[in-house]
Amino acid sequence: MDPRLLTTQRVLIVGFGVTGASVAKFLQLHHVAFEVADECDQEAADKQSALLACKVHPEFSTELFKQFDVLVLSPGVPRSTPAIESAIAAGVDVIGDIELFAGVVDAPVIAVTGSNGKSTVVSWIAHALQGAGIKAIACGNIGLPALDSLQQSADVYVLELSSYQLESTRSLKPLAAAVLNISDDHLDRYTDIDHYAAVKRTLLAHAKYCVVNQDDSRTWPIDGELISGQCERLTLSSEPDEKSRWHRTIKGDQTWLCDEHYAFLDQSELALPGDHNAANALAVLALIEPLQVPFTALKKGLLGFAGLPHRSEYLGEKAGVRWYNDSKGTNIDACSKAIKAMPGAVILIAGGISKGADFSAMRSVVEKHVKLLILIGRDRAQISSQLNGSTMIVMAEQLRDAVASAHAHAIAGDVVLLSPACSSFDMFRNFEDRGEQFAARVEEVLAA
Ligand code: ADP
Repeated sequence: MDPRLLTTQRVLIVGFGVTGASVAKFLQLHHVAFEVADECDQEAADKQSALLACKVHPEFSTELFKQFDVLVLSPGVPRSTPAIESAIAAGVDVIGDIELFAGVVDAPVIAVTGSNGKSTVVSWIAHALQGAGIKAIACGNIGLPALDSLQQSADVYVLELSSYQLESTRSLKPLAAAVLNISDDHLDRYTDIDHYAAVKRTLLAHAKYCVVNQDDSRTWPIDGELISGQCERLTLSSEPDEKSRWHRTIKGDQTWLCDEHYAFLDQSELALPGDHNAANALAVLALIEPLQVPFTALKKGLLGFAGLPHRSEYLGEKAGVRWYNDSKGTNIDACSKAIKAMPGAVILIAGGISKGADFSAMRSVVEKHVKLLILIGRDRAQISSQLNGSTMIVMAEQLRDAVASAHAHAIAGDVVLLSPACSSFDMFRNFEDRGEQFAARVEEVLAA
C-alpha cells in the first residue's frame, strides 16, 4: 500500500514492539499521522506518548479499533483477536508492516517463508550475494524490520516472512519467492495445518518466480493461488521427475546439487550439515537464479556460509563428546532434522511450550538416533507421555540440571544436542536467551 493513501486516513498501530516501532518511524517519515494501541500500563503509555508525540492507548478494544480506518497490526497480535475480528467485520482495513514495505520498495525482493530454514536460507542468499559484490540486505522476520531496512539503499532485499506477517500482506510482488516446507507449527494460532499452509502459500501469488518443495505437497500452489508467476520445484530425490528442476545427483561417491543442466555444488563441501541444509542450498540456488549473477562470483560465498548461531551450532568437544546448540529448533520437524544431521548417538535436551504439537510424530527418529531424552519446561509431561517407550526419558527442572544430566550420561562418540522442538517463553526470554544460557553451561563443562 502506498503510504500517500494513508495521509487522509485515521491510522492506528496495534502492538508496539520492534515492528510497531519501525512502523511508527516509517509513518512519521511519510507524514502520516497515527495513534498507537499497546497492551501496557498507563505509565508506559504516557511515556511512549511523550516520545512519539501521539496518543498511545494502553488497551485493545473493539470500541477503540472501530474509530480508525486502518490498523497496522504487529505480527505478535493475531488477526483472530476478538477486537480485531470485530473491527474487520465493521469494515476497518487491517494491514501489516510488509504491506507498507511493498508500497515503497524499489529494488528486487527475494522473499522466503516456510516452517523451517527461513533464516538460514535468507542469510545464505545475502551472504552469497554480498560475496559477489551485490548489496543484499537480509530483513523481515529475521530481526531487522523490513521498514527499517529501507533506510539503507540496497540492490536486493532478502525478506524473511512469517505466516503472521503474510496474513496482513496483499500486494508484495517479489522477484522470487519460496515456500520451503510446511510442518506442524503454530497450530495454536490456526484451525489446522492446511489453513496454516494456505497462509504460507499466499506469498507465491504475485511472485515472478516461485520455488516450492516437491517433497512436501503442502508447499505446492493449488488452482488459482498463482496469479502470474512461473513455478519451479526442488527435491532431495536423486531421481527427480520432470517437474523438479532443482535436485541432487549422485556421481560416484559425490552428491551434487544440480539444475537440469549443471552440477553446481558438491554437498560434502557445504559448511552446514544434514540433508535439510542440502534442501536449503537448493532453495538458495533457485532463488538467486533470476538475478542472473554468474555462478563463479557466487560460489565462494555459497560454500563459505557457516550458518547462524543457535541452528545446529557446534559448541565444542570434551572427552570425545560433542555439544551442539540448536535452540532455534522450535518444532518437531526442525528438531528431527537436527537429530538426523548429528554425527553420533544423540543425548537430546528438549521441551518448553509445545504449541499443540503431537510428539508421537517424531517417535521413529527418537527410537533410531536418541539414546537419552532429557525433558525440561512446561509441557514436558505431555511430551514424555507421547514419546513413552521410544527411548530412556528423564526430567530436569532447570536447563543447568539438564546439562549436568547429559554430561553424566555421555560417553565418547556421543553428541549432546539442545533442540527443544518447543518455544522458549515458559523459562527464557526467547530462543536466543535459551541458546546463550545453554552455551554458558556447556562452556563450564568444556572448561572443567
Ligand atoms: P526458521 O527461520 O524458519 O525458524 P532457521 O533457519 O532459523 O529456520 O532454522 C531453525 C531450525 O530448523 C534449525 O535449527 C534446524 O534445526 C531446522 N532447519 C533448518 N532448515 C531446515 C529445513 N529445510 N527443514 C527442516 N528443518 C530445518
